[in-house]
Amino acid sequence: MSEGDDNIPSLTDTEKILWRATESDFAAMGEALCNGTTTPDDVEGAFARLLSMDYDPHKHRNALHVPADAGEHAAVIETILRRIPDGWGRWLSVDAGWYPLVIATDARLAALHPRYRVHQIKEKFGTLRYYWWPADGQTLSPELSAALDAVVEDAERASALICERCGQPGVLQQSRRAWVETLCAFCAAALGYLPVQPH
Ligand SMILES: [Zn+2]
Repeated sequence: MSEGDDNIPSLTDTEKILWRATESDFAAMGEALCNGTTTPDDVEGAFARLLSMDYDPHKHRNALHVPADAGEHAAVIETILRRIPDGWGRWLSVDAGWYPLVIATDARLAALHPRYRVHQIKEKFGTLRYYWWPADGQTLSPELSAALDAVVEDAERASALICERCGQPGVLQQSRRAWVETLCAFCAAALGYLPVQPH
C-alpha cells in the first residue's frame, strides 16, 4: 500500500480504473433490474469483476476519491475529502452540478471553524446533506455549533434550486420509480424525470 505522510492510502491507477468499471457495471445492473431487462449474465459479469478486484475495503474507504469529473475543482475537493476521518469513506455522494455549492459551503464552514471535520456529503430526498463535525479534541460553544448548522441548512435550501447534474437552476423532479432528484428541465428530460407536483 502506498501512503502519503498523512497516512491516507492512495489507490493505484489500476485500482481506480477497476473501481470505476465496477461502479459502472453495478449502475448498469441496477438500471437493468429496474427496467426488467437484466439477464443472469449481466449480474454474473458485474459480480465477477468485483470479485476479481482483490478488493481491500479499508483501503478503499480511506483512500481519497476525488471524482473523475471534478475538473478545475479537483484540488479543493481533495482538501474537503481530507477533512473526512478514517472509516467514513473519503468521497462525495453528490453529482457535479453541486460541486460549487459543496465548495462554497466548505469555505463558509472553514471561516468559522478552520479545522472542522466532515463525516458525509450526500444527496438525500433531492437536497444536499453536509454533515460537519468538530475538529479532533475540540468542544464548540453552542453559538459556534449553531452558526455551523445554519451554514449547512443554507446549503440544503440552496441545493433545492440547483440541478445536481449540471448546476443550472433546477427543481425537484421524480423518476417513474419515484426516485427524486433536483434537476433542470434539460437534465430531467434526458433522464426521464418529471417535476414533482405540489400537493
Ligand atoms: Zn441540469
